[in-house]
Amino acid sequence: MSTTESPKNVDAGEIAKFEALASRWWDPESEFKPLHDINPLRANWIDKQAAVAGKRVADVGCGGGLLSEALAQRGAQVTGIDMGEAPLSVARLHQLESGLQIDYRQMTAEQLAEEAPEQFDVVTCMEMLEHVPDPAAVIQACARMVKPGGQVFFSTLNRNPKSYLFAIVGAEYLMRLLPRGTHEYSKFIKPSEMGHWVREADLEMTELMGMTYNPLSKRYKLTPHDVQVNYLMRCTKPE
Ligand code: SAH
Repeated sequence: MSTTESPKNVDAGEIAKFEALASRWWDPESEFKPLHDINPLRANWIDKQAAVAGKRVADVGCGGGLLSEALAQRGAQVTGIDMGEAPLSVARLHQLESGLQIDYRQMTAEQLAEEAPEQFDVVTCMEMLEHVPDPAAVIQACARMVKPGGQVFFSTLNRNPKSYLFAIVGAEYLMRLLPRGTHEYSKFIKPSEMGHWVREADLEMTELMGMTYNPLSKRYKLTPHDVQVNYLMRCTKPE
């Protein structure tokens, strides 16, 4: 984007997709079912690795606040940022119901990094990189906002024939877990590409964790050996 009013590195079409669905964000049987299903898995994993209680966490691309709330419930002091207005409104309303205090703000990762460099103990950026024009720049911003010694957690979709089959054909067409057009295959990211961007941002990759979906049991689980479709990456910023 080149206009001065619109922040850089935002795909308006992608934001619009999430705006349109936002009212159903907290309905566990809605288009957001996959996010509800993976939320306890990823929140527990992050908490186990980063012990979030009492820590400052930035949740980048927080949407309706599923992960922000899960981390706040575990005692974290969370700032959730997103460029979608409707998802943020939903998140702000929902936290009242949950009795949590999360600071939700409409801004990009790059803007938060500029405003609050090295201010966060933990940064999470889940299922968001595959929706931005320049994911490497978001990774750089996450690296800038985390304190030295802090951790950054990313998650996204791998790019290979199996991920095309599972994440697009399976999830959007056969099982209808997600609306058609939710994901664009070419924007999926291989772990090697993530690894390269993470190193360029002066982060160290500390762990790569797969997440697999079993269509028969309809359950997700964390699988350290299988990063073919969904995966999470844990990084550390050197002291
Ligand atoms: N991280 C959340 C939501 C994932 S959906 C979760 O995993 O539960 C992807 C979110 O990224 C949407 O809410 C969308 O509005 C947001 N997003 C997309 N591009 C963005 C950008 N450039 N800056 C901030 N948020 C963005």
